[in-house]
Amino acid sequence: MAEVKIPKATARRLPLYYRYLQFLHDSEKTKFSSADLSEAVKVDSATIRRDFSYFGALGKRGYGYDVESLLAFFKRLLNQDRLTNVALIGVGNLGHALLNYNFRQTNNIRISAAFDINPEITGTIQSGVPIYKMAELKDQLEQQQIDIVILSVPMEHAQEITDELVKIGIRGILNFTPIRVNVPEEIRVHNVDLANELQTLIYFLDNFKEDGSLI
Ligand code: ATP
Repeated sequence: MAEVKIPKATARRLPLYYRYLQFLHDSEKTKFSSADLSEAVKVDSATIRRDFSYFGALGKRGYGYDVESLLAFFKRLLNQDRLTNVALIGVGNLGHALLNYNFRQTNNIRISAAFDINPEITGTIQSGVPIYKMAELKDQLEQQQIDIVILSVPMEHAQEITDELVKIGIRGILNFTPIRVNVPEEIRVHNVDLANELQTLIYFLDNFKEDGSLI
């Protein structure tokens, strides 16, 4: 498929669009309008139309968009016809929950290997995923061609593990620890700090009115 250059903000919205298209497809809908999509994903329809315009004229005026062909288009664009293996490091409470979470159902992502230092769980299979010792990290990531890692270890170990991952040559980290890890600029880190998100939500509820203005 020809490379499509799209703005980052658009790229971030694509999985949202994709999920909604899948929902429409599962409910046997064949068409939708940008207004339908806008209502479902809470993105204004002008933005949606502009996002879609980066991929060429995908909709017809007065007809809307065709679910089947857009779904196929997004599937290719998001590489959803290819299964992406990712690894998880740290199978504690959060790690377990992530192992149980079925990424594959909607996103074609699979956690295919997990790693931990706890000898009580290494060598076992949890939720269908083998848990390896940390000593096996390099070999397994290389063998399975994994270059994305989910980090759910205690924060005091996040940097040392990240350094090891960088040496191994991974490309992306989804960091669930509350610290910001240092990486070379070619490596991408996305941070998910659940406690912080919840705290921020509480702060907003306490300090802002529904229209976004200060209380
Ligand atoms: P959480 O909810 O954050 O997962 P938890 O109390 O279940 O918390 P933590 O102490 O945060 O557990 O540890 C998470 C997991 O990370 C545990 O399974 C632990 O054995 C593992 N772990 C700790 N240190 C390391 C390390 N250096 N390398 C790999 N795994 C580690």
